[in-house]
Amino acid sequence: MGKYLKECVNQLSKTCSVMGNAEGDDKPFCLSYNEVEILNSPQRVIEVSIPVKMDNGELKVFTGFRVQHNDVRGPFKGGLRYHPKVNFDEINAMALVMTIKCAVADIPYGGAKGGITVDPKKLSQGEIERLTRGYIRAVADFIGPDKDIPAPDVYTNPQIMAWIMDEYSRINGKNTPSAVTGKPLEVGGSQGRGTATAQGGFYVFESLLKELKLKKKNITIAVQGFGNAGMNFAKIANAGKYKVVAVSDSKGGIYNKQSLDIEKVIKHKATTGSVINFEGAKNITNEQLLALPINVLAPAALEGAINKKNTGRIKANIILELANGPTTIEAGEKLYKKGIIIVPDVLANAGGVIVSYFEWVQNIRHFYWDKKKVNDRLKTQITNAFNKVWENTKHHNVNMRTAAYMLAIEKLGRALKIRGI
Ligand code: GLU
Repeated sequence: MGKYLKECVNQLSKTCSVMGNAEGDDKPFCLSYNEVEILNSPQRVIEVSIPVKMDNGELKVFTGFRVQHNDVRGPFKGGLRYHPKVNFDEINAMALVMTIKCAVADIPYGGAKGGITVDPKKLSQGEIERLTRGYIRAVADFIGPDKDIPAPDVYTNPQIMAWIMDEYSRINGKNTPSAVTGKPLEVGGSQGRGTATAQGGFYVFESLLKELKLKKKNITIAVQGFGNAGMNFAKIANAGKYKVVAVSDSKGGIYNKQSLDIEKVIKHKATTGSVINFEGAKNITNEQLLALPINVLAPAALEGAINKKNTGRIKANIILELANGPTTIEAGEKLYKKGIIIVPDVLANAGGVIVSYFEWVQNIRHFYWDKKKVNDRLKTQITNAFNKVWENTKHHNVNMRTAAYMLAIEKLGRALKIRGI
């Protein structure tokens, strides 16, 4: 079992022991240790080789994965990532995280994850399109609106989802927009899907501040990672009059202790290719960003950013996990002991998959909602999830990750029992 998966499995068994040891009439419904084994391993693992004709005429073969973790609560659901570091262990663990996330968010899906080991920054648009279509042809038998619905993830975007929709529709012999989410609006995408991860994270963040009775004017935020989730979260928070004092991307970060103007940072990145060298801010490294004297740290890049090497330096009181798995379990334990609140990925970034669900529903019904309706429903759905997780933290005296896993295991356990294991 790989490192990432081991961490997730440990979290599952830790949660079960908390649930098992709970006493009283409201003792949560829990699976036995043997039954939990079902969640320790994926239902199906797919590995494919994708031959792609490159622009220079050469043929290159890429490796792709799709791990379908569990579908007891509904079709498999989860993103597809393109990254040079994609490997089976990571995708396997992320598929389990999706099963938990969909249960926490209370949407009728199971969990899956896909990935291709590739650096998309080194490929032309044509090469990315051929790679995407090749991947879909290779996994077509196993995906579909009622089987497994991919979506964007690290370094994949609406255009790639449009190619997926098109390739799948050709194979299926009819237009099938509900086979993938995160599409452009022109081909059945949903209003608000592009900003959904960040918007959901912001609703969770504001709910937490309310519970903690913290005042907006005293809050400073640093965001690590300036992709879809990080950039939009910084923008939404800044527009909501929060001080976003630092942001970073893969080339480095910037810091201004008064606050950055995020709209301007976005324009600067669009023209220069990075957030660094922004006028009126100091250049810092990604590691320096993690150690800033701020209240809220929002890691929105890759997994493992907060690990045993840098936990000692973290000064934030709240960590909002916009990325998947940005805090290692070991680092998390140390931070909890210091009283730092970690809002786990399965709650903090669930806005993306929640609006994916709304997109799928709109595709199936052929009836489309406006942005206000999407965001209102997102707010209700994710705030309900936050409230239930928060109630568990108080009631069972556990951290938010364990509280979220408790909520998910209870739902998964009931579905497994009712369907028959
Ligand atoms: N990739 C996103 C996640 O990790 C979205 C998944 C989806 O919309 O299916 O939650």
